[in-house]
Amino acid sequence: MPRLVMKFGGTSVADLDKIRNAAAKVKREVDAGYEVAVIVSAMSGKTNELVGWVKDASNPPGANSPGFYDAREYDAVVASGEQVTSGLMALVLQEMGVPARSWQGWQVPLRTTAAHGAARIETIETELLDQKFEEGLHAVIAGFQGIGPDGRITTLGRGGSDTTAVAFAAALGAARCDIYTDVDGVYTTDPRIEKRARKLDRISYEEMLELASLGAKVLQTRSVELALRYKVPLMVRSSFNDEPGTLVCDEEDIMESKVVSGVAYQRDEAKITLMEVEDRPGVAAAIFGPLAEAGINVDMIVQNISEEGRTDMTFSCPEDQVALAKKALDGAAGRGEIAWRDMVTEDDVAKVSVVGIGMRSHAGVAQKMFKALAAENINIKVITTSEIKVSVLVERKYMELAVQALHDAFELEKA
Ligand code: ASP
Ligand code: MG
Repeated sequence: MPRLVMKFGGTSVADLDKIRNAAAKVKREVDAGYEVAVIVSAMSGKTNELVGWVKDASNPPGANSPGFYDAREYDAVVASGEQVTSGLMALVLQEMGVPARSWQGWQVPLRTTAAHGAARIETIETELLDQKFEEGLHAVIAGFQGIGPDGRITTLGRGGSDTTAVAFAAALGAARCDIYTDVDGVYTTDPRIEKRARKLDRISYEEMLELASLGAKVLQTRSVELALRYKVPLMVRSSFNDEPGTLVCDEEDIMESKVVSGVAYQRDEAKITLMEVEDRPGVAAAIFGPLAEAGINVDMIVQNISEEGRTDMTFSCPEDQVALAKKALDGAAGRGEIAWRDMVTEDDVAKVSVVGIGMRSHAGVAQKMFKALAAENINIKVITTSEIKVSVLVERKYMELAVQALHDAFELEKA
């Protein structure tokens, strides 16, 4: 029998009525002849509450080491949210006449690395589930969790049940992995900014990765990376209607894609320029080494042409990391590792990107983008490109206008 993985996010299992609604979707697929593995998140808000309790328990007022908590016990506590929904889902399915049983990550087992709180999946042993399917049982599996080399419960990092779902789809050889959520698919851009944004029928893994990391927060990025690696077709769809959603798939399964598929943005960016650093081997390493050590999420990097042995170096990072970045750079300067004439910071910028695999074979995307921005009098501060993406940094107050202008210029409202 073909297999299907169905994952339900927190809003789709937020209470018993929602769990019944989700279970009805599972029953429909069971009736259609699938062996189904259901992956559930915790009820929405539950994980946050559990994390809060862990922090409060570890940090009473006047605690010896404020902020510290034991990661093993963190996992023991926060994994419980998914334990509850998996059991409830199995009960509701049974009540509907679907033979179902729940399993926790450790019972499967889904084995992970030792990194409590941010563990990575190593293997999923499927013998038990294979046998249960054979016996006619459908599986409900607690997402977000596994068992570490120390034999203790681990969790995969926030949003991790998307990754659990894709990993099970790969391990079980499922025909597809359906991700049920509170949006009905992936859009050409944020519909709150551009009301003509259109739901995409299909999008490639590569495009989804660019869109996800740029702010279209539908799927955990890791889950898309995993789906790409194991070629698992992923369907993003709504729990609250019966529309087909958006299929995230191999680019070969998209007959003819448009040159540009979507416009993404990142609102709270900042730009830092070091004026007149020395132009010699090792300077970039001396700048970006300390930034990496400080955990700064450096995104765009531009180095100017040099004049008389000096060059300007510009990079972007999230606005809330500017102070940390400056501290790291000042530290390096204090140790004599780098020197500059002036440090210029702009913390009111945003990044806007056009994304599309069609760019690989079509010229002129960047030019069309720049023209559309020029027509709105939007100044471009930094430009970077990759094979399937062109990004610009603009003043933050023009971000919405830039997204709308680009959506319009590339006619993304048209199928
Ligand atoms: N419940 C976990 C979280 O809120 C995992 C998930 O929902 O994907 O992060
Ligand atoms: Mg999620």
